[in-house]
Formats: sequence, C-alpha cells, structure tokens
Amino acid sequence: DTAPTSWPARAEASSFFGFTDLPSVRERGTVVLTRGEGPYVIDSEGRRYLDANSGLWNMVAGFDHAGLAQAAKAQYDRFPGYHSFFGRMSDQTVMLSEKLVEVSPFPRGRVFYTNSGSEANDTLVKMLWFLGRAEGAPERRKILTRVNGYHGVTVAAASMTGKPYNALFGLPLPGFLHLTCPHYWREGGPGESEAAFTARLADELEEVIAREGAETIAGFFAEPVIGAGGVIPPPEGYFQAIGPILKRHGIPLISDEVICGFGRTGEVWGCESYDFTPDAIVASKALTAGYFPMGAVILGPDLADRMQAASEAVEEFPHGFTASGHPVGCAIALKAIDVILNEGLLDNVRALTPQFEAGLARLAEHRNIGEWRGRGLMGALEAVADKATKTPFPAELSVSERVANACTDHGLICRPLGQSIVLCPPFIMTEAQMDEMFEKLEASLERVFAEVA
Ligand code: PLP
Repeated sequence: DTAPTSWPARAEASSFFGFTDLPSVRERGTVVLTRGEGPYVIDSEGRRYLDANSGLWNMVAGFDHAGLAQAAKAQYDRFPGYHSFFGRMSDQTVMLSEKLVEVSPFPRGRVFYTNSGSEANDTLVKMLWFLGRAEGAPERRKILTRVNGYHGVTVAAASMTGKPYNALFGLPLPGFLHLTCPHYWREGGPGESEAAFTARLADELEEVIAREGAETIAGFFAEPVIGAGGVIPPPEGYFQAIGPILKRHGIPLISDEVICGFGRTGEVWGCESYDFTPDAIVASKALTAGYFPMGAVILGPDLADRMQAASEAVEEFPHGFTASGHPVGCAIALKAIDVILNEGLLDNVRALTPQFEAGLARLAEHRNIGEWRGRGLMGALEAVADKATKTPFPAELSVSERVANACTDHGLICRPLGQSIVLCPPFIMTEAQMDEMFEKLEASLERVFAEVA
C-alpha cells in the first residue's frame, strides 16, 4: 500500500512543514503530485489543481514546457555538470552571464552563481563584508532590510528576513536591522497621506543611518514588491525617496528580484517597474522558470569594479558552491530568458494584468476584504473582520489558511500569508484560466466568510 496512487489526496494549507518522509506525508494527508500540464498540477489520484502560485512563485512557464525540457536534455547529453572555478567553466555559464548583464539595468557588471535565492543573498552579504575588509573598513558590516521583507532561510538571508519566526532560531544575527514595513494601508497613520508615509519612511532611514553611523552599514536589501511578506508594493515614490539617501551615504542598494525578476511585475525587473537603479540584483526562481535550482548575484558597475580591485589587492573572493554556474542550469536559464522575453510570456503578463487587477478589485468589494494589492501578476487580498476599522480576524480562526484549503477542495492552489491570500499565477495563463481562478477563489472566500463572519 505504499504505491503513490493509494495515498489519499487531502490538502492542508499548513505553513512551512517541509518534512517529506512517508509517515509525515501520510499523517498530514499531503497532496502528492505526479505531473503537470500548463498551469495545472495533477496529483496521484488524478485530481487537477490550477496552481495560482506558480509552485513557489517560480514556475512561470507552467509545468510542461517542451522547450525548457529539451534545453535541459540537450545539455545533459552534451556536458551534464561542472563548476565555475579555478579557470574552468562551461560555455553555457559564460553565455548566460553575458545574457544576464545584457538584460540587466547595468551597462556592465559581474555575475556569480548559487543554487538558490537564499544563497545568493548570503553570497552578496559576504561580498559586501569582503569589500569592507579589502577597502580598510572592517566595521562596515551592518545590513538594513524591512519588517516583512523576505530574503530566504540561510543564516544571513534569514537574518535579513523580517519575520517573527526567525526569533525561534535566535536570529537575526547582530547587525541586521529591520526598518518599518512599507505597507501604507496597514502602517500609514490616521489621516496620513501616502506621500507623507513615504517621507516618514525616508526620515526613519536617515535616523537609522545617523544613529548607527553610515561607516558601519554595508548595504540595504529590498524587494521591489515584498513577496512572501504578503505582496506589498512600495508606497508612491518610495525608491525615489530612499535611493538618494543611500547614495549620499555610500550605502549600496540591493534589489532582491528573486520574485520580481524576469517579468513578474510587467517589466523584466521590479526595479524597472519602480524606476530605480540598484547597485546589485539578486535573481533566482523565474531565472530558470523553476526548471533548475539556481540563483545569481548580478553586480552593477561600481560593485563590480570594487570587487575587481579587492581581488587584485587582497585575493580572489574565496567563496562558491559545487554547482555554481551548473551548465544544465545555465542552459535552461538561457532558454527561460528567451522564452520569457521572445516567446510572448512577458507580453502575456502585460496583457493579463488588467484582468488580474479587475478580478482582485472585484473580490475586494466584499466586506471581509480590507484591500487588494499587487503589481503585474502578483497580487493579494487582505481578509478583515471589520473593513472600516481594518480589524483582522483573530489569528486562531486561521481564515487565510481556511480559504486556501477551500481553494484546494475546488482544485485551486493559492497561498495564505498572514491574513492575506496571495496569487502569483504562471505567465502562460490564458484569460479563461484566469476566470477559472477567480471563480474558484470567490466560491472559497464565500464559503469561509460564511463560516467565520
Ligand atoms: N528572496 C526573495 C525575495 C524570495 O522570495 C525568496 C524565496 O521565496 C528568497 C530570496 C529565497 O530564495 P530560495 O527559496 O531559493 O532560497
């Protein structure tokens, strides 16, 4: 009875539980998936779910893209694995780096590969710390991020992540500081305009820099749109307000584009959507359309030059992973970028955005939805017990989890994050599939609100 087809297909939209042993899977009624078809995933009993989450924000080309599978197969046949160190690397690795700089907002740059977004953030923190020492400023180590920002799970990335659960690990490490979450609807004061809220966040940044000393701060990491914190676009003018402050104090601005990068916000990069140029970009997820685990740090010209000078003056940056620049990952990424930019995926994001926004706005008319937010094809609905006072439901009601569970019953996968329900559909979705997504979500919301409201 251990055959996958005999497992019950009962979904729980539980939080992080990631143990995958058979007793855990059985006990929790985990949905065991066996294949995919466009934006649908199919479980061991043949049930289909429209995955409005693109896996974990990454499967932007859907689950059966023949071109990506062929790119992987061709590279496995040709040269199945290598690293990128000691004067050797694959042709695909070099070609992808050229392509990444070409599509980046930088006129020139340098690229460093990892296996994940978390490792890319940790790698960049180590680069900034390495630079501090190489440039005679070893005290330049503090990292600024925001409450609710999500940057990953490795030790530095978790320290950057502004989520309460990191206290369970005794994190953040000292020197990782979290500024106010830039969520106007929740954090804006009574009567405070959006512009005044932005100005307040900029003042806070100035104050933190003055208090800590600019010479002690190595970098400011921000997602253009906060993703796993609940899809929080910045308030109006946010990056235009903080960018010049950071520049004046010589603090690099890092755009964590792990979710936003490669089209999610309707431009190639989230920083393009919000009209700012960072000093470096962190990418992963859509970089390979989720067909290979891979992350990348892309340094802009200033950090690239300084890393070059540091490696000449001190030594080469002594850091890397066995699979850094893996040729199969790079071949897939080259194909994924081509598919997104040249085979209509980015165009489809732009074409679907009005329908997506209209669908969210319509559901937000419900008296138990406090606001909808989003940009491009990432969006969220915030559940509230009382719309006028923005009072959340009691946490113990687990409203967003119940909505996600109801969605799974209806054959739709979406993600509960705090009190919000998050949607992040694949770029290949059709209009009809988007209608299906909203119909199923609406039925689920109605069912759960009828139970709890
Ligand atoms: N940065 C952002 C913005 C993310 O959303 C994520 C993952 O969701 C990460 C970093 C971490 O990436 P990974 O899960 O590949 O380590």
